[in-house]
Amino acid sequence: MSIADIKSQIATSKNIVIVTHKNPDGDAIGSSLGLYNYLIKAGKQAQVITPNDYPEFLKWMPGTETVMVFEAATHACKQSVAAADIIFCLDFNTLKRIDELGEEVRKAKAFKILIDHHQMPEDFANFMFHDVGACSTAQLVYDFIHALGDKNLIDEQSGICIYTGIMTDTASFRFPSVKAHTHHIAAELISKGVKHFTAHEKVYDSYSADRLRLLGYALSKLVVFPEYRTAYISLSKEELEKYNFTKGDTEGLVNYCLTINNIRFAAFFMERGDEIKISLRSKGAFDVNLLSRQHFSGGGHANAAGGEYKGKLTDAVKILTDLLPNYKTALLND
Ligand code: 5GP
Ligand code: MN
Repeated sequence: MSIADIKSQIATSKNIVIVTHKNPDGDAIGSSLGLYNYLIKAGKQAQVITPNDYPEFLKWMPGTETVMVFEAATHACKQSVAAADIIFCLDFNTLKRIDELGEEVRKAKAFKILIDHHQMPEDFANFMFHDVGACSTAQLVYDFIHALGDKNLIDEQSGICIYTGIMTDTASFRFPSVKAHTHHIAAELISKGVKHFTAHEKVYDSYSADRLRLLGYALSKLVVFPEYRTAYISLSKEELEKYNFTKGDTEGLVNYCLTINNIRFAAFFMERGDEIKISLRSKGAFDVNLLSRQHFSGGGHANAAGGEYKGKLTDAVKILTDLLPNYKTALLND
């Protein structure tokens, strides 16, 4: 199936639904709303659905007020998914990543288009626009619109969403996944009127005082294993509550571990309900996607992955620290 076929599918469609992964991040929301604003401009009907709510620092992008949250409006979301003739699946590679919404998408009659950059995508979509080399799904959304021949329909509205997706998934254009192409896109978006500084301010300068204090506390708890070039931080439910935790307050925290000289592997553990959410990051060849798949029922990218553990916080941490000797050679090699 060619992109020309996809173009005609979109042209004849009446109801388009865009779904993205649970605990949506900047790329999930940025890519979804980037595509949404483009489709609206192209004269289509579109609806973004997220499995659960997302942080306040992402609730400013154009179209955010139209997003439906499956957890909060389950019935309306089910109806929307069932009535869709196209479903775009953005920034995830397995239906497991969208919880119960996954079952609705799986049984929906719609034509499914996956746009994603995570490793090892499952085979559930009818068409895949997939590249593990892409820095973000937002970049792929730009490339997808370009491939449809509709670059001229990207405007300030869709542009700032795409910019934000790229910015957040690359920690502000710093990872090796950022290519000249990424900067060309950023330049193109700025020339279309996108205010890049607004995206940076809205996302990074919107902390509450509690969030900044939580960051200070979390950093004071840092554990470092120089002999394994590893550092981690863990936060219990009580600790999070003490700082009035709200969704998104721990976003990016794991990256601080990698700011220590010589550290190659970083982990962040957080108690959430009856499970532990784990964020893993690495520099160089150490593959946290594989580690997360093998030990924390997760996945992601080679240098940024996440997972879960059903059980106690201290046990999740112990699993990781017990594993370190096995990975010593890999961690010291690079
Ligand atoms: P984060 O640590 O920021 O939550 O996620 C890092 C990367 O791993 C993101 O690309 C995210 O989509 C992916 N990821 C996070 N948690 C999970 C998970 O539980 N399962 C899978 N397959 N991927 C995850
Ligand atoms: Mn992404």
